[in-house]
Formats: sequence, structure tokens, C-alpha cells
Amino acid sequence: MFTLPGLPYAYDALAPVISDRTLHFHHDKHHAAYVKTLNELLAKAGKMPSSLEAAIVESAGAKEPKLYNNAAQAWNHAFFWLAMSPTRQAPAAELAEAIRISFGGLPALREQFVKEGAAHFGSGWVWLAADAGGGLKVFSTHDAHDTVTTPKDHPLLVCDLWEHAYYLDYQNDRKAYLEAWFDALPNWDFAASQLAAARGSGALWRYEAPVAEARAA
Ligand code: FE
Repeated sequence: MFTLPGLPYAYDALAPVISDRTLHFHHDKHHAAYVKTLNELLAKAGKMPSSLEAAIVESAGAKEPKLYNNAAQAWNHAFFWLAMSPTRQAPAAELAEAIRISFGGLPALREQFVKEGAAHFGSGWVWLAADAGGGLKVFSTHDAHDTVTTPKDHPLLVCDLWEHAYYLDYQNDRKAYLEAWFDALPNWDFAASQLAAARGSGALWRYEAPVAEARAA
């Protein structure tokens, strides 16, 4: 079975950009439910994929939409927690240079990221990713759609665009959420390690491997 990763910081560590209350609902209810449903669907089907990435790839493309949606949402949320840091950071070194080359600088990347996320229709995710050539790009995906099934896109950061991610704190103002998020929360150290891995140095982040089913008490 797959386990729900704990938050890598305290529930109140991202406030006021993301409140303690939002993080409790988001992690303990939404993310937990995706992992629980994923495990139930796998158990019912008698399957135990070797990794969450394998589960996503094997169920993608409308083969098993329910399994895919829960597997991809389990992955996307774990990545989202890591893409944020309570400590305000700035891109440095190779990542700063890549942002300069691909966008012209951090303010231009911010503008594109916020615009993409704010204009995205409905639920989904806005990503900063490195493409196969090592250049950076911003794009959004719908609902549970992820970057595991597009292996040429190596994700550096992601921001959750589902209403559950921001509605308690920003109500319908998704743009304000994205602006506040981009200015305070990106984990640029994590993004830099993902970029280095995309360029062949180190390993890209992967979801924790499944563990043997716990015996019923
Ligand atoms: Fe979410």
C-alpha cells in the first residue's frame, strides 16, 4: 500500500499565505482521501504496482480513470508540499540562469506563472518544468493530470489550482493566491535539485515506494 507523506513543515508554517486551517483540510482530508481511495482500488483489483509512478503510467489514458485520478492526485500533492518552503527563498546559480534564459528573469516568470494559473479553467495544476532540452516552461494541467505521463517534462515546482487549495483563504480570488504563493512559498532549493536531475546530475524526486499491507488488528 502507498502511504500518505506527512507535511515537511508545521501546519501553520506557510501562514498567512496558506492558513493552518487550509493545510489541515488539504493534507488531512483531500490528500489523505486520494491515497486511501488509491489503496482501496488497488486492493480490489489485486494489484500492487512497484511504484506510484508505475501505477500512474499503467492507468493513464482512460484505461482506468478512477485509479489514474487518485494515483496522480496522490503524487501531485506530495510534490506540491515539497515545492513549498516556510523560508522565503530566491532562485540561485544554475536555476537563476535558466530562468533568465527562458523567461528573461524572475518577474517575467512570475507574470507568466500567475497568468497561466489564473486563466486556467476549472481545477488543475500550474507547473514550472524543464523540457527535454533543459529549457524551462510554464503550463497547466487539468484535474489530476500530471507530468509523470509526459516524461519529457521534468517538474520543478507546482501550485494547486483546485478551489480546496485556496478558497478558505482567498475565496474566489485565485490570482491573489497565486501572487502571494509565488512571492513567498516556492522552494527554489527543491526546484534547483530537480533541474540538476533533469540535466543529468542526481535523481528526480519520486513518491515513496509502497509498503507491504499492514495486518488488520
Ligand atoms: Fe489539492
